[in-house]
Amino acid sequence: MLVDSHCHLNFPDFKDDIDNVIARAKAAGVGVMQTICTEMAEFEEVYSIAERNEGVFCSVGVHPNDSGKQEIISAQELIDKTSRKKVIGIGETGLDYHYEYSDRELQKHSFLEHIKTAQATGLPLIVHTRDADEDTIKILSDEISKSYFKILIHCFTSTKHLADTIVKLGGYISVSGIITFKNAQSIRNALSDVPLDRILIETDSPFLAPIPYRGKRNEPTYVTEVNKALSTLKNISEEECTKITTENFFRLFDKAKQS
Ligand SMILES: [Zn+2]
Ligand SMILES: [Zn+2]
Repeated sequence: MLVDSHCHLNFPDFKDDIDNVIARAKAAGVGVMQTICTEMAEFEEVYSIAERNEGVFCSVGVHPNDSGKQEIISAQELIDKTSRKKVIGIGETGLDYHYEYSDRELQKHSFLEHIKTAQATGLPLIVHTRDADEDTIKILSDEISKSYFKILIHCFTSTKHLADTIVKLGGYISVSGIITFKNAQSIRNALSDVPLDRILIETDSPFLAPIPYRGKRNEPTYVTEVNKALSTLKNISEEECTKITTENFFRLFDKAKQS
């Protein structure tokens, strides 16, 4: 069984055929999906998709690009939502200096509130980082030295330095369809020393469809292509790659086992 550790099933792209999208994924062997919350205003909608569908879980959090849109999120608000059965992760949070839709200080403040939530609940922190490696590493390293929490860098597009640092901090790296792109050689190289027991796979759908679907709407079914590309990169069989990434998912998101 494959796991899509990060998708956005509540996005308008899936509005007309969400049931078919989930059914197609399951038929392709994708038995578990985590649909990711990006704004508190969307949380109930995200949660209801998880609640309605077996094998679908969700997170709670505010995307860094949305962290200036609303009242500043507090750890307590996030912690309250984690009592819900199908909430298994915190995020996505982090720093995005590429788009910089939100002020950097607001992004950092929001990131720290999510970290407090991960520390308090033991649920993994799902980190989005774009053109912000230095600050991401500094904040994660400083905070983990005060109180441990589990880290997942999602949709990895960073450097070998970031990947190696996260592994040293005990964290995990999730790879998306980007690893199938021809121009992503530096990203494939950066993953070279990440141990197999620290890697997850995701689609980040509806965005970033892997080759051969590039440019189309992405959906959880296509995590099969990410698995294929990762197996080639790590020189193992597709079956072995599926087995390992699924085990890694359940080790990290251990609340999914009890739900
Ligand atoms: Zn992201
Ligand atoms: Zn995302």
